[in-house]
Amino acid sequence: MPATSKAKSFELDWSAFPHGAVTEYTTQICLACIFDVFTGQLGLAPRTAYSEIKRHAPTIEELTAPKASRPYFDSEEKNPRCPYCNSAKRWHARLDTYRIEGGKESDAARRALIKSLPKSDEQFQLIENKATRRSLFFEWLDTLARTLDFDDGDGWMIEATRGFLERREPKTDWAETFAGVRAVRRSQRLEEGWERDGTRLFLAPPLYNDTLLVQYLASRSHKHGGQTLEGRLTLVELVRRMRWSGHLDAQGITERDQYEVLEKLVEHLTGADGAVKLYYLVDRRDLLDKVKTVYARYAAG
Ligand SMILES: [Zn+2]
Repeated sequence: MPATSKAKSFELDWSAFPHGAVTEYTTQICLACIFDVFTGQLGLAPRTAYSEIKRHAPTIEELTAPKASRPYFDSEEKNPRCPYCNSAKRWHARLDTYRIEGGKESDAARRALIKSLPKSDEQFQLIENKATRRSLFFEWLDTLARTLDFDDGDGWMIEATRGFLERREPKTDWAETFAGVRAVRRSQRLEEGWERDGTRLFLAPPLYNDTLLVQYLASRSHKHGGQTLEGRLTLVELVRRMRWSGHLDAQGITERDQYEVLEKLVEHLTGADGAVKLYYLVDRRDLLDKVKTVYARYAAG
């Protein structure tokens, strides 16, 4: 196969990455909008505009913004129109971005993947960045909360528990562990880890308490107080429970003020301000492909 068509059909293989280490973003870019700006407002010749766009390296903000701005746009439609200039699909290019969290679980897989990428035409762009563990945790929690149905009785709490455990121990097969689970309980027996008993999943107290905290944090913006496996809890009640169960002592939390205690619990849960390296891999293949055909139209007049 010639190099270009090989590069076109190259498929990214994520199978070696731990669960949750890769987040995908997709946005559309309108080439008609860009060509108009370059050839109209900036007065560039189409050929120059073409090379400029080919070199275009979007920023992380442009690629991952929850709300895109011109010339980027998001659409769920199969044949969307550009919201700015009304152009049809053939003028749009799709940009897929994969955010890989660095760390010992994913570093080797990332290096191997990057090594395997086609490079002949800068089909892929790699941008490095950093974030705190805390901000990644809350971003994850927001994403999780959007998938939960808080009116679904205890169902969402089991889902939230599973999401949290998947994030915490990505190598465990949680689909299997959770198959048929109808209730999550505090274990009276275990000091760490979990065990299944029939349709119930028992968590050791430290894990159970962390799970309550995750449920509280996920639901507090959707309900009055937080909803947890222990029922609806205000912050005072949550802190009291954590104190009684020895969870605060175990983590060396001596604060009395409820907000300070919450802050410490969150710090403990998330790993606080420790930094995580982030690698954004941008798939530019559709951009390179589309810009060529769009330019051909421009050049033809
Ligand atoms: Zn447009």
